[in-house]
Amino acid sequence: MPYTIIRSKRRSLGLYINPSGEVSVRAPMLYPKFLIEKFVKEHQNWITKRLSRISTQQVEKKTFTQGEYYLFLGKKFMLNLVPEQTFPLLLDDFEFTLLEKKQANAAKVFENWYKLQAQIKFTSRLNFWATQQHIKYKYMKVTSAQKRWGSCSRDGRICLTWRLIMAPLEVIDYVIVHELTHILVPNHSAKFWGKVDEIYPTFKLQRKWLRENGYSLHLT
Ligand SMILES: [Zn+2]
Repeated sequence: MPYTIIRSKRRSLGLYINPSGEVSVRAPMLYPKFLIEKFVKEHQNWITKRLSRISTQQVEKKTFTQGEYYLFLGKKFMLNLVPEQTFPLLLDDFEFTLLEKKQANAAKVFENWYKLQAQIKFTSRLNFWATQQHIKYKYMKVTSAQKRWGSCSRDGRICLTWRLIMAPLEVIDYVIVHELTHILVPNHSAKFWGKVDEIYPTFKLQRKWLRENGYSLHLT
């Protein structure tokens, strides 16, 4: 099974599979290659399980047809096509309704809708946490990043991908707390995770959720 080795100043081995099924091992600078090989072999079952899940997911590619389900804040809503309504796409308590004549352009219509909701929800959650923790950030930008849920520059500019709006609110809150904490601690040291734990004690559950379900936060 092919995999890439990415060496850095880390202390332990880490195994990663990206949404397109590429396997990589993060390793310390001088870590012997045969031990990396052994590590990958030991995790073969886990890798196979993950890869099969990714391939199933690729089968379920969105077609924007009647009866499909779409995520919003961690819940699934069915899609209905309608001949007439005031907006291209609407969501009520039960379902998404898409204007029939927009179907050909539905991916873009959904993306725009998600981006708008993301802008509103992320701004309000960010302000909530920033105020509560007395952390100042400069501004927030909604991005279309595929694999990176969020980022934070040293001077307090926070980027969050609109794909997160499909995740449960607790997961969005975790990413926001994570990025805000980077304003105080710009790396992923023990000090950083200690601070995240202090602000958001359930963070390990949400971090796990993202690792296991992140692949589902995609439209195409
Ligand atoms: Zn981080």
